[in-house]
Parts: sequence; C-alpha cells; structure tokens
Amino acid sequence: MAIGSGAGGDAAQRHEPVGLRIATTIADARAWRLGVSGSVGLVPTMGALHAGHLSLVERGRSENDHVAASVFVNPTQFAPHEDLSRYPRDLDRDRALLADAGVDLLFAPPPDEMYPAGFSTAVEIAGPALGLEGERRPGHFRGVATVVLKLLNGIGPDRAYFGQKDAQQLAVVRRMARDLDLPVAIVGCATVREPDGLALSSRNVYLGPEDRKAAPVLYRALTRVTSLWAAGERGAATLRRAMEEVLAIEPRARVDYAALVDPETFEAKDGRCEQALAALAVFFGSTRLIDNVVLPPALAD
Ligand code: AMP
Repeated sequence: MAIGSGAGGDAAQRHEPVGLRIATTIADARAWRLGVSGSVGLVPTMGALHAGHLSLVERGRSENDHVAASVFVNPTQFAPHEDLSRYPRDLDRDRALLADAGVDLLFAPPPDEMYPAGFSTAVEIAGPALGLEGERRPGHFRGVATVVLKLLNGIGPDRAYFGQKDAQQLAVVRRMARDLDLPVAIVGCATVREPDGLALSSRNVYLGPEDRKAAPVLYRALTRVTSLWAAGERGAATLRRAMEEVLAIEPRARVDYAALVDPETFEAKDGRCEQALAALAVFFGSTRLIDNVVLPPALAD
C-alpha cells in the first residue's frame, strides 16, 4: 500500500486535517478520495514549492473540507531543449511544507505511473492554447492539459486551484473543463510576489545575483501598463510600447514577447481594448520568466 498516514483519525468524520498522507499511485489517490467525506480541493504542482504554491493550498483549505496537492514534474510539457533534467526537485522539503500547510493528501507519482508503457492519448486544445506560450513551446499545453485531466480524473476533486501567474495555462485548463464538461470548478488565484515585485517561481533559483537584481523589470513594465490603463489609455499599441520601453531600459533582459491579449481567448488585441491581459516572457541569460497582469474593464468607461 503506497498510502502512508500521519496521525490517525476517522477520515469519514473529520473536517480538520489530521496528517499528511502520501500516495504514489492513482489507485491509492482515488481510494483516499473515496474514503473522505465532504469536498476536496486539488492543487497541482511540479514541486520546488514556494509561497505562491502555498497560497493556492491556503485557498483550497478555506473552500474545501480536504485539500490534496500533487507534485509531479510532468515530462510531456517540456520541449526537448527545455529544463526537464535540471528542474529543481526536493520532495522531502515539499512534503514538510505541505504537512505544515495542512494538506491532507500528497500525490507524488513516478513518471511511469502517469505514463505507463504504451501510453498513447493526449488532449489537444486549440483556442487559448495557440498563441504566446503555445506558439513558442510547441506541445507544452498538450502536455499540461493531458496531465491535468489525468490528475482530475484520478483524484476527483470538487475544485482545482491554479495560479494567475500562468495565465494562459489557467485559460487552457478552464477551456478544457468547459469543453469536456469536467465536474470540477477551476479556481484562479492571485500571483504572489517578492517584495520587489518579482513573481515567485520555482525557476527563480536559476537566476544569478545580477539577473535576480534585473528581473523585477517585468513587474515595473506591468506596473507601467497598469497605471496607463488606470489613467484611461486604451490603445493596444500604446500600451504594448509602454511595456517594451520599460523592458528596454534593462540591458540584461531579452524580450521574448510583450503582448496584449484577450484574457480568455488569448487572441492579440488591436486598436482600442476594453479589457486585456498584458503578458510578458523575458529571458535573463538562459532563464525565461513569465508574468502578466489583468487590465480589467472599467466600471464606468
Ligand atoms: P508549478 O509548480 O510551477 O507548475 O506551479 C503550480 C501552480 O502554482 C500553478 O497553478 C501556478 O500557476 C501556481 N503558481 C506558480 N507561481 C505562483 C505565484 N507566484 N503565485 C501564485 N501561484 C503561483
């Protein structure tokens, strides 16, 4: 049995977490779900946990009777040239953080549990998966959607929590849930940042000291576009240029994209926009950081 238990307790009656259980197989994760009463929230992650992940856990705890988190570095969402082999991994640390955060189940399967020999199925999403990250990382959202669907099917949560930090991923998962009638609510959660504005990311550990100092330029570019928006600017070209101008000040930043897109469809915005997502992808050396901000429709525009 791959489920390990922390403190004991009657799972059928409890609503307070009584200890972290660990499942490494889908069968055991599902057995856990069938054994608990009330609602379950799921927080899918790739581990190397930080306060951004833990904010999703906290939200999940506040809205559900039980919270599960998964830690799985999903190989199918990495392109061959990407950082799969050096992606940070520390399951012991993750387990301790999740236990402290009151998570009830940690699902940490090995790759061949998720992708056994002969695995031949993938979820292909068009629409919001096509531009930006989808264009630059071919196959990325196919890998994300497939693994998320497997996690949702395997664990059967009532709600699943995703960060706005990965806005396109959130839009793709929402679209999949809607298109495939998945019986789960997809909940988007605000981006958690360092004091200097840098969005928390497991990949921030790749940044050397100089690049770490330079990286908050993403936040400054997003802050600039937010204040222009608040002042009434609605021209997509002007807003985009404003982000590019801020990024151009930082010589260490190599811009992959600075885009204004529709927050649901991810189609590029042109002309005047009433709402938009300002999205950035910027390289510092070989480390690629993404960030975004929603430019909401004004109440009285
Ligand atoms: P990852 O482990 O990078 O796949 O992220 C797992 C989940 O945590 C995803 O839904 C991310 O969007 C979310 N997440 C990552 N960074 C942050 C952050 N800084 N603030 C809020 N959520 C985040």
